[in-house]
Amino acid sequence: MDESRDRIICMKCNVALVKTKTDFSYLKHNFDTELLRCPICGQVYIPEALVKGKINEVEMALEEK
Ligand SMILES: [Zn+2]
Repeated sequence: MDESRDRIICMKCNVALVKTKTDFSYLKHNFDTELLRCPICGQVYIPEALVKGKINEVEMALEEK
């Protein structure tokens, strides 16, 4: 049931997204992480869970300082 989970298709290009090391920033913090990205149009798929996880990490890191 979970086998298709890692294969996300770009709706625009109809190709499977590939894992790519990607920088993205949130609240002036840069993350360097592997994200699924369309090899044709460059559209990055950011799972909501990942965003929330990263944001939690940042918020916790800020509170610790
Ligand atoms: Zn695409």
